Amino acid sequence: MDPLFPTLSAPHVRDSGEALRFGDRALSHGELAAATGALADRLSGADRVAVWATPSLETAVAVVAALRAGVPAVPLNPKSGGSELAHIVADSAPSLVLAEPGVALPQALADLTRHDIDVDVDVDVRGFEAPLPEAAPPEPDDPEAPALIVYTSGTTGPPKGAVLPRRAIATTLDALADAWQWTGDDVLVHALPLFHVHGLILGTLGPLRRGGSVRHLGRFSTEGVARELGAGATMLFGVPTMYHRIAEALPGEPELVKALAGARLLVSGSAALPVHDHERIAAATGRRVIERYGMTETLMNTSVRADGEPRAGAVGVPLPGVDLRLVDEAGEPLPADGPEAVGEIQVRGPNLFTGYLNRPDATAAAFAPGGWFRTGDMAVRDPDGYVRIVGRKATDLIKSGGYKIGAGEIENALLAHAGVREAAVTGEPDPDLGERIVAWVVPADADDPPTAAELADHVASSLAPHKRPRVVHYLRALPRNDMGKIMKRALGKEDKA
Ligand code: ATP
Ligand code: MG
Repeated sequence: MDPLFPTLSAPHVRDSGEALRFGDRALSHGELAAATGALADRLSGADRVAVWATPSLETAVAVVAALRAGVPAVPLNPKSGGSELAHIVADSAPSLVLAEPGVALPQALADLTRHDIDVDVDVDVRGFEAPLPEAAPPEPDDPEAPALIVYTSGTTGPPKGAVLPRRAIATTLDALADAWQWTGDDVLVHALPLFHVHGLILGTLGPLRRGGSVRHLGRFSTEGVARELGAGATMLFGVPTMYHRIAEALPGEPELVKALAGARLLVSGSAALPVHDHERIAAATGRRVIERYGMTETLMNTSVRADGEPRAGAVGVPLPGVDLRLVDEAGEPLPADGPEAVGEIQVRGPNLFTGYLNRPDATAAAFAPGGWFRTGDMAVRDPDGYVRIVGRKATDLIKSGGYKIGAGEIENALLAHAGVREAAVTGEPDPDLGERIVAWVVPADADDPPTAAELADHVASSLAPHKRPRVVHYLRALPRNDMGKIMKRALGKEDKA
């Protein structure tokens, strides 16, 4: 298999400027090649390493070095609680942990050998066509070799370790390059954590595979986005909570409007982008955010293409090489040209993981006959094939009064009400209806929230009477995980407003 990072493993690195910047520290492509080559050399022979994945140059260097050495890496979330970390460490059994010098590690990692990551390589690799000082081991050839073990976000249950082979990473990044016309000239603005697919594989390995560059903000801020896009960055990858903050800030930040209007590509993923935020950004900047849809187990499945038509509420079309179908409750495929119907998304292709670590039963249960992965996400298709996700099968499909209702469209309707800042919708058992629709609302003004009757009427008039919430709970904030995803299983356990 070709190397994952052709520009880093070439015998001569064209030291064409900045590869990575985190805050005020940066590495050029040549320095990155040297730092990752030196660390890869030290790692070779290790069987599996954990990376304490702070948002830092060190984390990027450690993961790239492990990939270059062919040593499977397990990125750890530094904000995980002790019991979650203990579970992940016991499950993945790394032989050492790579960490930023000076950063304290929690008790759950006390038994692991620590290796500090050194990014300040003491060699001068600046200058055009600098020869590489360190002989890094060649990247392994085997496309099926496990490259990363990434734990799922834990939105619906305890995180599961997805074993990702080199083949899946290369395939997904190349499919996105095709869909997004992504090249080495692109400069990405990044503010996501580095232990999930979005921030690590797409946001860090993606630009490095293309030979482009990344500017990480450390912490997301609309000012940081405006500054970097205003200073020549071309793309922004974000989660919906970031685009929500952007939508809120636009009216008061002319620099942000200008910066977004000039960006080549604004991409959202990891959760559904509310239609209201998509439309506010489009109205203020003339730019439409494009959505892509993926998961830890499958990497990326669909995207709106850079040369396609962005559409609010839709995640685009299957990426090159991805087979996608919708199936009904009996597992029968829905015809692609049939009437609009909700089905579970199943996917197949070289973008898929090889299985959950130590979970052969969970792995077997995740696949339907024919190698189709059951995503657990429910969707409909527009007549031209655009996929619209309506929610997760387990939490977002409400069976009420004989109807199957997706939580997503009700959430979008609630968010379009001026008195609603955040909204989540669930179902709860109801003796008459089977399930009744429950709305969890963070009001825009806590002192003057819209009444339950007003919200029900609003939903009934914009969607349909049977989609109106029967119960409304008011909260100060929705429970969200580190990707900003709403943790529906935690609703009801939070403080009421
Ligand atoms: P866990 O599997 O541990 O419960 P998780 O499913 O949130 O957590 P990830 O693999 O990080 O973990 O997330 C994948 C899920 O995120 C998808 O199955 C889908 O539900 C959701 N998702 C990703 N992108 C989008 C999108 N553009 N629109 C709607 N949902 C999305
Ligand atoms: Mg999942």
